[in-house]
Amino acid sequence: MTSAPADPQTPSGYPTADARPPRLEIRNLRRFFDGRAVVDDVSLQIEAGQVMCLLGPSGCGKSTTLRMIAGVEMQDSGEIYVDGKLICDTVFRVPPERREIGLIFQDFALFPHLSVADNVAFGLKGSKDEKRARVQELLSKVSLAQYIDEFPHQLSGGEQQRVALARALAPKPRIMLMDEPFSGLDNRLRDGIRDETLALLKEEDAAVLLVTHEPEEAMRMADEIALMRAGKIVQQGAPYNVYTRPADRAAVSFFSDTN
Ligand code: ADP
Ligand code: MG
Repeated sequence: MTSAPADPQTPSGYPTADARPPRLEIRNLRRFFDGRAVVDDVSLQIEAGQVMCLLGPSGCGKSTTLRMIAGVEMQDSGEIYVDGKLICDTVFRVPPERREIGLIFQDFALFPHLSVADNVAFGLKGSKDEKRARVQELLSKVSLAQYIDEFPHQLSGGEQQRVALARALAPKPRIMLMDEPFSGLDNRLRDGIRDETLALLKEEDAAVLLVTHEPEEAMRMADEIALMRAGKIVQQGAPYNVYTRPADRAAVSFFSDTN
């Protein structure tokens, strides 16, 4: 609706016509629970094709941040922009189903009564043939084409997670939000699935926000790490830089903990 060329809601950081706004930008997000700021002035920018890891200990506000971007939780202040367009502030709000966001959680959340094909096709629009073609394309990308007519309970945890990935990517989301997506998986499988997932994400053109409490996962997958503690981003940068030059003692001990 608000598509005037000189959109007054475009954030001020990239005012010139040729500067492309980031795919996702959150500005000064805050969320209070019981009078406490669990997300406290968080700002981030993620480009299309970039994987940003929001890394921090349990309870620091990662999931709440992600849920606000998804639109299932409302911020108390701050704004969210997609491709430079405001999608949410404290008065204006694009509903979750219109945000073109793919979501993946730890527990996969596949529909148990639907086949693999119907799970992947769930959010798709178009003719039956178009949907079937996209489903087959994605299932072969995650190497599960032979399971197209199986049901979730017939698959292993790793296979279910790959179906969840195929389902989230099927509608070509502009943004992928992943909340501890590998935590439920067997240690042995995890690295392989992390690499496969990363390769697939890189083929699609989404901005990816991956939430994790595991430094190792962030080091393996991120283009950029945002280190979060007690509701705030305390450091941000390329994995190597964040790891070799931690901002403070708490960051040092977080990275050296084997959690
Ligand atoms: P993380 O994902 O980093 O583990 P969360 O975003 O889930 O952290 O939670 C951050 C803090 O906010 C925690 O202290 C949690 O208990 C609190 N919290 C989250 N959701 C609610 C809620 N709906 N009501 C009250 N407190 C909440
Ligand atoms: Mg969480």
